[in-house]
Amino acid sequence: MKILVPVKRVVDANVKVRVKADGSAVELANVKMAMNPFDEIAVEEAIRLREAGKAEEIIVVSIGPQQAQETLRTALAMGADRAILVKTDEQTEPLGVAKVLKGVVEAEQPGLVILGKQAIDDDSNQTGQMLAALLGWAQGTFASKVVIEGDKAKVTREVDGGLQTVELKMPAIVTADLRLNQPRYASLPNIMKAKKKQLDEKTPADYGADVKPRLKVIKTEEPSGRKAGVKVKSVAELVDKLKNEAGVL
Ligand code: AMP
Repeated sequence: MKILVPVKRVVDANVKVRVKADGSAVELANVKMAMNPFDEIAVEEAIRLREAGKAEEIIVVSIGPQQAQETLRTALAMGADRAILVKTDEQTEPLGVAKVLKGVVEAEQPGLVILGKQAIDDDSNQTGQMLAALLGWAQGTFASKVVIEGDKAKVTREVDGGLQTVELKMPAIVTADLRLNQPRYASLPNIMKAKKKQLDEKTPADYGADVKPRLKVIKTEEPSGRKAGVKVKSVAELVDKLKNEAGVL
């Protein structure tokens, strides 16, 4: 079985994000970029499934600018077998990405697609679900455990009330949640090897997809800062403030 893992290049999770002076978007010039953290978890899970003998090949794919090849090389250094860069300079959105991924799935015929549950830049949490709908495949979202048995995948999902286990008939879509695994670091020799690997370069049109933005960002704002706290002299004053000022009692 082949496993397809879509990986997105996003602002590094450790960088403090700033909004551009004109409020049009987040500042990306000279900002450190990295693989979306949930996608690292997805790559790690695919590698573990291959190590357990449940898969033979892991293909990673990124839809984005030329620099997204760095993200693909990180995935290759972790242990993916092959990488496809679907090049576009458009700002990608979930539906456009899902349409490209549908084309990649049709070309590569994977038994499983593991995505991140969400990209930390747009926080859409939509691409996996849209891809499942476009393909008519079963989906197990927010996975914290994946067990493959024959042509079935048992996925434990993190839901509000606790954990839910669902059984999917494969081929299927899984989206990775935080507790699925702890991704490995790529070793230096593997990073060096990954630098030399050939990537497949494609365009959205090669997969019959159009990634033109369908949404218009009207405004981007930083969260407002926290107000300074106040010291109270007694419990009675605290209760009074909670009742009459904060209105929480
Ligand atoms: P989203 O729906 O944007 O929150 O993204 C969910 C997941 O879809 C991500 O964790 C990635 O696995 C995948 N994805 C989204 N955008 C891209 C992209 N441009 N290239 C590759 N994978 C993507």
